[in-house]
Amino acid sequence: MEGQSRMRDQENKRCEVCGNVYDKSFEIHRGGEVHVFDSFECAIHALAPTCSHCGCRVIGHGMETDGVFYCCAHCAEQHGIHEFEDRVESGSAQ
Ligand SMILES: [Zn+2]
Ligand SMILES: [Zn+2]
Repeated sequence: MEGQSRMRDQENKRCEVCGNVYDKSFEIHRGGEVHVFDSFECAIHALAPTCSHCGCRVIGHGMETDGVFYCCAHCAEQHGIHEFEDRVESGSAQ
C-alpha cells in the first residue's frame, strides 16, 4: 500500500468514529463543525439521521418533519404523516 510511512498530520486523518488513521480520510463540514472520517460507513454512522419508523439510516434525501426523520414516504405514512405523498404525483388525489 502507498503512504504507509507517512507519519505527520496523523491526528488530522484519524477517524472520529473508529479511530483508524487513513491517508485517504476526508472531512465533512456541517453546522460550523469539522468531522473527520476514514470511510463513508463511519460518516453515516456518525452523521446520518435514523428513520423513526424502521430504524434504518437515512442516507438519501430522506424526509424531516418537526425534527423527526423518515427514510421514505411509506415510513412517514405509518406515523400518520401524509404530507409527503403529494410529491409523487400531483393531481391524482383519488
Ligand atoms: Zn472510521
Ligand atoms: Zn424507514
